[in-house]
Formats: sequence, C-alpha cells, structure tokens
Amino acid sequence: MGIGTKCVQGGYRPGNGEPRQVPIIQSTTFKYDTSEFMGKLFDLEESGYFYTRLQNPTNDHVAAKIAELEGGTAAMLTSSGQAANFYAIFNIASCGDHVVASSDLYGGTYNLFAVTMKRMGIEFTFVSPYASDEELEAAFRPNTKAVFGETIANPALVVLDIERFADAAHRHGVPLIMDNTFATPVHCRPFEFGADIVTHSTTKYMDGHGAGVGGCIVDSGRFDWTKYPEKFPGLCEPDDSYHGITYTERFGLEGAFITKATAQLMRDFGSIQSPQNAFLLNLGLESLHIRMKKHAENGLAVARYLRDSDKVTWVKYCGLEEDRDYELACKYLPNGSCGVVSFAVKGGRAAAEEFMRKLRITAIETHVADARSCCLHPASSTHRQMTDEELEAAGVAPDMIRFSCGLEDAEDLIADIEQALK
Ligand SMILES: *Cc1c(COP(=O)(O)O)cnc(C)c1O
Repeated sequence: MGIGTKCVQGGYRPGNGEPRQVPIIQSTTFKYDTSEFMGKLFDLEESGYFYTRLQNPTNDHVAAKIAELEGGTAAMLTSSGQAANFYAIFNIASCGDHVVASSDLYGGTYNLFAVTMKRMGIEFTFVSPYASDEELEAAFRPNTKAVFGETIANPALVVLDIERFADAAHRHGVPLIMDNTFATPVHCRPFEFGADIVTHSTTKYMDGHGAGVGGCIVDSGRFDWTKYPEKFPGLCEPDDSYHGITYTERFGLEGAFITKATAQLMRDFGSIQSPQNAFLLNLGLESLHIRMKKHAENGLAVARYLRDSDKVTWVKYCGLEEDRDYELACKYLPNGSCGVVSFAVKGGRAAAEEFMRKLRITAIETHVADARSCCLHPASSTHRQMTDEELEAAGVAPDMIRFSCGLEDAEDLIADIEQALK
C-alpha cells in the first residue's frame, strides 16, 4: 500500500459488523473471568488489556497505523512528544550512561536532556549536525547508549544527514533515534536511511488541528540488541519485575523495545495518551498525506516571497535552492519538507515584534505545525530568559521569527506578510 492508503486505512481493520471508525474504548479497566488468566496477563504470558495506564485498544490501533506509516514493527502512543523522547532514551540508558545528540533540537528536548535527564545521571554530548566525521566520532564514549537527532530541527530547520549519523551510531554498536515530528512519515521515513527508532510529537502535523497533545515511539525492529548484551542488559537479561522474562528472547527484535517500554516505563511513569486524544489523532492521520503536501507548498511559496523581499535579512528553508541544506533536502525530503519557515526582518528584535503585531491571518502562538498559520518570536517568548549571546549559542538568532504556514491559501498568507512588512 502507498503512504496515502496507509494514512486512511492503516492500523485498524474491522471485522464483519464491527465499527468502521476506530472505536474509543473509554474504559480504565477490562473484565476477566478468572484471576488465573489475569495473572498470565500480568506475567506477559497472555496478551490482552488490563489497565489503561499501560495500554488501551484505541491507542494500539492508532499506534499500529503510525508503525505502518514509518515502516516499523511496533509502536506505542505517549501523552506528549516530551514523554516519547524521554521513554525512547530511558528505555536503553540509565544512571551512568551517555548519549550523543544533535545540538539543533527542540528547546523542550534540549532542556529534558541537558537538565532533567542529567539530574538522573545520564550525560549528553551535543554535536553540531554539520560536525565533521572526526568531531562526531570524538563524541562517543564507552558508555554511549544511543545517538539522537531531529529530521528537520525545530526551530533551527536544519536537516540531519541521517545516513551519516546512523553509520556513526552503528560503528559504536548503538541505535540512532530520530525525532521525525516536522517531516512526518509522509515526507521522510528515517528507517529507510538506517535509523533504528523514530519518535514523534503527534501534537504537531499528525494531529494537525491543534486539538490534542500526544507522542509516539516506533521501533524498526532492526537493531540487534543481542549483539551487545553488555550494553543493553535491560533488553537482553531477565527482568525481575516480570518473573525473569528476557524481552529479546520472548518478543524478538521486532517487539522487545516497545514491549519493555510499555511493561516497565508506562507501568511506572504512566504517561499514556488518553483514548479520546488517540481518536482525534487518528482523524488527523486520515488526511496527513493531503495536508503535508499543502503545508510544504505554502512553506515554499512563503520562503520564496521572503527571500525576494528587500525588508528581510535572512530566510531558512531547506526547499530553497540556495539553502545550506538543499542537497540534504533533495535526498531525504524529495517530495517537500514542511510548512515552517524561519527568517528575520530588517530592524532586528524590535522590528520582528512590530511585524508580528501587524499580521492579521497569522496568530502569535507557542504552537507550530497547525492547520491555522501561527508565528513566534522565540527571543521575546519561549527563550526570553536568555541574553543575545546565549540565544546565538543555542542556535536561535535574537531576530528569528518562526513562521508556521497552515493550510490557508498561499496568496492570502503572502498578502498578509506583505502588508505587515510595509
Ligand atoms: C513539540 C516538539 C516536541 C515536544 O512535543 P510535545 O507534544 O509538545 O510534548 C518534541 N520534538 C519536536 C521536534 C517538537 O516540535
């Protein structure tokens, strides 16, 4: 099946007389005839549902669709993108371990890694996506457990060379985890370029209508944990909290990672997506292939307009021929990238704020990747505690405007920008 058919029909295949639309199983718990059977569920000897803190059928249908879209073997939904990235790393790294990450990351992810997970004893080394092979190589340590990056970084909009980072990770016997939020599997499937695990903030394009916060983790099923049992004891050695089962033995490479994340992390942290939100997410997924095309068309049209305007100092959009990442975009995003464009207007910070105040269609919001166009001046909102020097170090220019093209007509967005620039 093509990607569009998977968007519409993937994951849920009803039998005779069953609901055509994914049913919302709004139940915290599930009934069984004997406690003996329930015991088997708890020991993971039988499959089935017992408590929605760990798993729910609505979520599993939607996760299965995302697994099909990415070309993975298993997936799980989480309550947010933050939870997805935390689980993806914490499932294989713990106190005393180390992770190599791209320095161009979503601000929330950077904070999670550099501050909160550091307090849990996991250290991160951040390397530029443009780092030389030598610099990338030098970031690894004997206790490195994963490499992490974003397909199109938010808000820097840098495209990661997935194959190069995957090769480096594999040379060191660790998986590459890719946050594929901005590209979505419609425009890039990182598994096809060697990535091993994919994460998403489904809050963005997948939901697409600003309706529900959520996240997802997908496993390619291809990383062979059993080749490095001393590196990944959690997957290759018996789990005492599940009567000594070994995830890789019981569930194979195709199921071990997601089963462990569900059985241990979801059980203990409980950051599950509500079935209601999973239903809304699925409505979004049904049109993802149509919407991504339009978002990318609008993004390119707006980026071209801004490039040609004498009131604009710089534009970052990988679909522009002169962009530093254009070649990478041709390779990894041949059908288009996304609707997010970043740029600066002449007059710097003050002019940026004035420009945004004058926009009529595009609203000032923290959100991004929505059907409705929105924009943000990071320096005066999400990053306002930082000095100009600190902003530059974090890859966020003080004059940067992050402009997220929605699904409106490109001519209207451009006319709005034009009048605001004037
Ligand atoms: C928004 C975002 C996140 C965090 O997702 P939430 O759903 O807001 O928790 C992670 N990664 C990227 C690239 C994002 O844009």
